[in-house]
Amino acid sequence: MKFRVFFLLLFFFFTVFAQSSLSDSDTDPLGQLISDLVNASKGEKKLNDIKVWPGESSVRVAIYPSEKVTFKYNLLNDSATTNRIYIDLIGVDASGFVLPDVKYDSFLKKIRLGKRDNGIRIVIETGKVESYNVVEMEEPCRIVIDYYGEKIPEKVAEKAPEKTSEKPAPKAETKVQTEPKKAEAQKKTSEKPAAKAETKTKKKKIVVIDPGHGGKDPGAISGKLYEKDVVFRLAKKIEKLSKNYDGIEVKLTRSKDIFLPLEERAAIANAMNGDLFISLHANAFKDRNVGGMEIYHLDNTRDDYASKLARVENKISENVTLLDTILVDMTMSYYVGDSLEYAAGIGKGLKKDLKKYNSKIRGYNKGALFYVLVGARMPSLLFEIGYITNKSERELLQKDEYLEAIAKSLLDAISKLKVK
Ligand SMILES: [Zn+2]
Repeated sequence: MKFRVFFLLLFFFFTVFAQSSLSDSDTDPLGQLISDLVNASKGEKKLNDIKVWPGESSVRVAIYPSEKVTFKYNLLNDSATTNRIYIDLIGVDASGFVLPDVKYDSFLKKIRLGKRDNGIRIVIETGKVESYNVVEMEEPCRIVIDYYGEKIPEKVAEKAPEKTSEKPAPKAETKVQTEPKKAEAQKKTSEKPAAKAETKTKKKKIVVIDPGHGGKDPGAISGKLYEKDVVFRLAKKIEKLSKNYDGIEVKLTRSKDIFLPLEERAAIANAMNGDLFISLHANAFKDRNVGGMEIYHLDNTRDDYASKLARVENKISENVTLLDTILVDMTMSYYVGDSLEYAAGIGKGLKKDLKKYNSKIRGYNKGALFYVLVGARMPSLLFEIGYITNKSERELLQKDEYLEAIAKSLLDAISKLKVK
């Protein structure tokens, strides 16, 4: 019965979207797909879930197989306006699986699932792609694909100089025929006066605070003190205290002790239309003398310490090579300057405000490849609030007064900064 429901939904899916799609030349024939599905043999590994977060000319897709699988992927250039990426999961059975209900738009055009000889193929069809990342993560086992379009999000486009119009027209290329049309169309859409007015008159700065870890993932542990609890307490204090600031609205990625996969956090911040994203963490180290605060922004720096820390927070132990392939895509690099400005403002503020506690600020201008920040369409920071293994900091981090002092200093700095 389950299979029949799947079939019906799939049929519905195809009838609806075949009509709205402009070019269907590369669509697998429906009949072929059906016979593929009918012939589907049971594999041992299952497809548990697919989650999709569409963004403004970007999309994040997380694929959850029941256990670690071998997979391969490839990006196909279909036309000047369309790209497809396919991901083959080897030895995975998806019979009975129903694709999630996704809102398709001009960028995310279609997601398909089909049977292959030795597993399944997931195809994501979008508009033209600038860059993409594919990362494998554990606990739970999943593959996360980030897919970034050529179009710059409106917020960034407002700030960025109009490079495209200054560039001399490229010499005749195969692209040329569609290029001017597309540029014109993009220009039109980016001239939406309503959208611009909205961003300019927006009164409050939306700060999305992400208390790291949670639920089954405690983060760093020192005795009975868990990182997930310390950062959650701080997040609640920031939220509460923010009511005293007219220009700031704080939203939390999690409001209780639940597990939230890394890739959902930036996606949540994007959905909340945040202006700043801060992921809160606490550090741990075997040498109990080591302590201090650190504020990071996203970068694929090769700094040894920073990348080691990133590996801990990312929880990507075996797949360092995959992690290394994460590209600093267009939007990531757009936000680096603003992220650094926030980091410096907050760092300097903490240095001054926490003097009486003898708190050490180890640094605030370092970049590292923290996956939690990847894909955030806003300035983003990872804030290590101290070492729960350090004797004095361990004590301080359990005091309300100290957490409130951090919260106040942070909010003061953010409200003063005129980034954007
Ligand atoms: Zn952490």
